[in-house]
Amino acid sequence: MDALRRSRTEPGRSAIPRALLAALLALVACVAPAPGPGEAECPVCRVEGDWACLCVRIEADTPSCEVDGKTYYFCSEECRAAFLEQADRYPRR
Ligand SMILES: [Zn+2]
Repeated sequence: MDALRRSRTEPGRSAIPRALLAALLALVACVAPAPGPGEAECPVCRVEGDWACLCVRIEADTPSCEVDGKTYYFCSEECRAAFLEQADRYPRR
């Protein structure tokens, strides 16, 4: 009898951690400092919500590209490639 009860799935149980995660991400977004001099935001990570590597230090070997006269910096070559591939998806500032 108990085994039957235990094997039942519990729908909605994962909804709570997900909401918590969203709230946490929103909090990080508020707290995250704006990029200072010599720093930039990876536009791909901003859109993807990947806050861990959002802030990019602008150095000689930092992946970058120029679109419409504006230079964008990326945390990785992967992000640079994603930006160039789907430029419409990412905001241009
Ligand atoms: Zn990135």
